[in-house]
Amino acid sequence: MPYPIIEHKYDVVIVGAGGAGLRATLGMAEKGLTTACVTKVFPTRSHTVAAQGGISAALGNMGSDDWRWHMYDTIKGSDWLGDQDAIEYMCREAVPALIELEQYGVPFSRTEEGKIYQRPFGGMTTDYGKGIAQRTCAAADRTGHAILHTLYQQALKHKADFFIEYFALDLIMDLEGVCQGILALNIADGTLHRFSAHRVVLATGGYGRAYFSCTSAHTCTGDGNAMLLRANLPLQDMEFVQFHPTGIYGSGCLITEGVRGEGGFLTNANGERFMERYASNAKDLASRDVVSRAMTIEIREGRGIGPYRDHIHLHLEHLGPEIIKERLPGIAESAQIFAGVDVTKQPIPVLPTVHYNMGGIPTNYYGEVLTLKDGNPDRVVQGLMAIGECACVSVHGANRLGSNSLLDIIVFGRAAAIRCAQQLVRNAPHRPLSLQAGQAALERLDRLRHNKGHLSVADIRLNMQRTMQQHAAVFRTGDSLAEGLQKITDIHRSFAHVQINDHSLIWNTELIEALELENLLVQAVVTLKSALNRTESRGAHAREDYPSRDDERWLKHSLAWCNDQGQITLDYRPVHMYTLTTEVEVIPPRPRVY
Ligand SMILES: Cc1cc2nc3c(=O)[nH]c(=O)nc-3n(C[C@H](O)[C@H](O)[C@H](O)COP(=O)(O)OP(=O)(O)OC[C@H]3O[C@@H](n4cnc5c(N)ncnc54)[C@H](O)[C@@H]3O)c2cc1C
Repeated sequence: MPYPIIEHKYDVVIVGAGGAGLRATLGMAEKGLTTACVTKVFPTRSHTVAAQGGISAALGNMGSDDWRWHMYDTIKGSDWLGDQDAIEYMCREAVPALIELEQYGVPFSRTEEGKIYQRPFGGMTTDYGKGIAQRTCAAADRTGHAILHTLYQQALKHKADFFIEYFALDLIMDLEGVCQGILALNIADGTLHRFSAHRVVLATGGYGRAYFSCTSAHTCTGDGNAMLLRANLPLQDMEFVQFHPTGIYGSGCLITEGVRGEGGFLTNANGERFMERYASNAKDLASRDVVSRAMTIEIREGRGIGPYRDHIHLHLEHLGPEIIKERLPGIAESAQIFAGVDVTKQPIPVLPTVHYNMGGIPTNYYGEVLTLKDGNPDRVVQGLMAIGECACVSVHGANRLGSNSLLDIIVFGRAAAIRCAQQLVRNAPHRPLSLQAGQAALERLDRLRHNKGHLSVADIRLNMQRTMQQHAAVFRTGDSLAEGLQKITDIHRSFAHVQINDHSLIWNTELIEALELENLLVQAVVTLKSALNRTESRGAHAREDYPSRDDERWLKHSLAWCNDQGQITLDYRPVHMYTLTTEVEVIPPRPRVY
């Protein structure tokens, strides 16, 4: 201290180069705005690259379909916690957004007639639940990879500036609560960078790494969510964490739902296709929360597989080598590497694994960040947007349907670009930043890198991950959540005793991991507190002590603020039970049966 700081000025700064960040970056640059994209990993290494099964859109290429059916399925999938105006927007805009992706050059798989190939996915139906829809557009089982590479090429073509392996530390907020930019650390050379922007767009992804076993990359630490909390803004619906039914037993590596879409099915130790008992219509293609709970019950009741009766089998042997090779080549490879299984001959051992965060930064369907202020639950935070998995629009409510996340990142990345193009003027002058801008973040960085505690980053992280795995699990009870909250609060406090051995700012991975851990810890606290508070079962939040959905008391979004000491304040926003247009009607809550 003091640090030399390199200044940058842009119309828009996007933090994150996953599918959401790149779609927004390309859209902003295409519309002529000066655009910077700041990312801690190389763009095409962002977690979106791992998305396998596909992206939903009611194109109707392989049977009749309608975006209104997609809207119905998404609302039902969300267990009625999704905002219906935003869901209408997403399902309607899915169709043009997908056609654009095709025109940008995404190499989708094709039907015999040359149309985009579409497969069935859990919870996706025709005619308001009567049939099974083929709605999920796929590039074999490497859809995220195909999308990410195409978007990066397009963003480069439109001359967006990339700041690669720059770690965004914090938002720069003025005294009126307007976002003016961000402060970032160049991981490679240790230089500090202050970006001024008329809009900051957070696209920093989920925080799956708060858990011990998850399908997400090590980079999924929810940094943007933590920045929001430090700016004294709330996160929404953090109690809703999705467990994917089919993580490979032992490694957590994902086996896409597309496998069951192609005809794969689950069995227990008796060889029984048990999903027929839990979801008589949709069976193995019921929504993810339903399948994960069914698997957990089978294991708990002693019908699990293996010496410890602690997992389930997923079969695709019957599909035949040709179909597997053509449509699921990546799955065959992952099963071989991570489970030593030849999927043409043997079932894959699987277990529900943490996969997706429905909760995050509250936004409207333009991508503008919302807060509750002066009694207004939809007050826009000026200068700040959020898109992708870090955002809670909320289109997924209490449970996301498979293939709706790639859709979310594309539709709302695009929406953010449309909004900025309407509201911003290229190269408009920036308000000067105060001398203190970013000071708090610098002080935090300085304190942390010189911290001389006795606990390693790895030890604190492991404590956190084990606590989350045990106490914020598929099934929850008040007692277990309360115990988990006490433990996680203590673990959060223990971060004050973290030991940083390397004080340098240059390529200091220990420091970066410590920054990420600090971000994860605060989200873990908020997740447990929000889960303890919600005394009902809805979607992915299954309380054994409150087994029913309670629309009278709980048809509302949770909001949570967290101060430096880990103290949490909770409040609520109403769910948007209205549509954007008169082309559709509100779908009122009803029992959720598959
Ligand atoms: C294995 C797997 C398979 C999946 N398959 C599907 C599927 O088939 N269909 C579907 O719809 N969904 C799928 N999902 C979910 C979906 O892939 C993700 O929700 C989605 O890709 C998230 O995209 P994103 O752009 O929000 O975030 P990410 O792709 O995670 O990108 C986050 C970006 O933020 C950057 N970043 C984060 N923190 C910082 C920081 N501090 N400073 C600078 N940069 C930062 C990172 O560098 C990265 O570029 C899958 C998820 C998993 C785990």
